[in-house]
Amino acid sequence: MFFLIPALGLTFFRDKSDTRLFEPSFLRIRCPLCAWQPEKKDRWMCWPGCQHVWNTFETAGVCPGCAKHWHSTVCLRCQQWSAHEDWYERTSP
Ligand SMILES: [Zn+2]
Ligand SMILES: [Zn+2]
Repeated sequence: MFFLIPALGLTFFRDKSDTRLFEPSFLRIRCPLCAWQPEKKDRWMCWPGCQHVWNTFETAGVCPGCAKHWHSTVCLRCQQWSAHEDWYERTSP
């Protein structure tokens, strides 16, 4: 069993010189439990695993380091797990 944990040391680091914090693709992603919206600067860590640190929403849950597909993603705010696809805002049919 593997867990995807937030890389707490990097979670709240944001480069103030980057004015593109809210990219259009990230505006439609939010925690299904607390509605927290991840930004491009947020990071998760593949651990236990290859310990690669990246933004899991840029790769749809696939670790760039070891190609592991994370089916669940932990919220960096409420610390609860949700299925990766549940983070994406659904467009009404
Ligand atoms: Zn949350
Ligand atoms: Zn990995």
